[in-house]
Amino acid sequence: MPNKIIYLDNAATTSVYPAVVKEMEKYMLSDFGEYGNPSSTHDLGEQAQKNVQKAKKIVASEIGCKPHEIIFTSSGTESNNLALQGVAKANPDKKKIIISSIEHSSIYELCMEMKKYGYEIFEISVDNKGFIDFDELQKLVDDRRLIVSIMYANNEIGVIQNIEKIGELCREKEVLFHTDAVQSFCKEKIDVFTMKVDMLSASGHKIGASKGVGFLYVGERVKIEPIIVGGNQENSLRAGTQNVPAIMGFAKAISIAEKVDKEKMIELRDYFISKLENIGGKINGSKEKRLCNNIDVSFSGADNDSMLIKLSENGIMCSTKSACASKQKKENRILSALGLKKEEIGGALRFSLNEFNTKKEIDIVVRELEKIVP
Ligand code: PLP
Repeated sequence: MPNKIIYLDNAATTSVYPAVVKEMEKYMLSDFGEYGNPSSTHDLGEQAQKNVQKAKKIVASEIGCKPHEIIFTSSGTESNNLALQGVAKANPDKKKIIISSIEHSSIYELCMEMKKYGYEIFEISVDNKGFIDFDELQKLVDDRRLIVSIMYANNEIGVIQNIEKIGELCREKEVLFHTDAVQSFCKEKIDVFTMKVDMLSASGHKIGASKGVGFLYVGERVKIEPIIVGGNQENSLRAGTQNVPAIMGFAKAISIAEKVDKEKMIELRDYFISKLENIGGKINGSKEKRLCNNIDVSFSGADNDSMLIKLSENGIMCSTKSACASKQKKENRILSALGLKKEEIGGALRFSLNEFNTKKEIDIVVRELEKIVP
């Protein structure tokens, strides 16, 4: 591995903020007396419970809900599973689910699995910029549906949907609305109340917290049952001793990530985009409504796997698609949904920035790309 790494795969995972690691230590080592089990009734346990409640307050204030509406989980994947399977268990009379064709595999594959158990899945298509077809959604939504699950921002192309408009429609038609906000949490201003979102998923390791922690916001009006049983933790919605160090680290990461200068990241993203376009790259997805850190580019006719390997050999880390789908041999479902040509899909790379990336790093990457793009 080269000594100097230029890490441009923050949508897959981020490094953990040093202040988060320090915070997590406090809830593991005996020195601080904070390592208790939140379910224990002695003082140490009660302290741990108070700490978890403190973390919920921080999360809740980030998305505009009440602390008791936050359920800590192990990941974004678990949050998505709890959202869909949990409401399915609680509402056995409803069997129709609406998703978009560009959902993350933790929603998409789950729905394909649920199909085997009698659920009917409706996939809303997207246009060539990555926006869902709202008219199609409008025609399909009614109160006989179990749930509408449409992601906030896509993990590959970074395109941000009009969540407020979808929320408005779902509330009016009296159908539950879940959004997978794993990529947009702490990057976009989220207010579940004004956006009329009933459930929302997020994950720690995309924002400088550790892996192994996420949350699901579950609004008070949602009828839901646990999918992991065996304890009454997390309002009896998620059994299992809470990962207190990771939860506390997650709360710390939120307090850091919310202060990140997003405008500066947008400036760097757009600088990168213009450089990529200068060397023949075509940006996939809307350039206007996209995450501050996402660049998805196609070099038509190039082979993205070999480009990725060459970049990696030179210390540049990026991806060809989402990490969860990268080991699958199947065609890229997201870029196909946008209607890209085979040559464009085969030449697509995703770069995802963080606040520590610099113009100097971008210049190095572009120089390397110039050498390898046919
Ligand atoms: N949803 C989206 C949009 C994601 O990008 C990811 C991870 O890449 C997930 C869900 C899954 O999150 P986790 O890695 O925490 O399971």
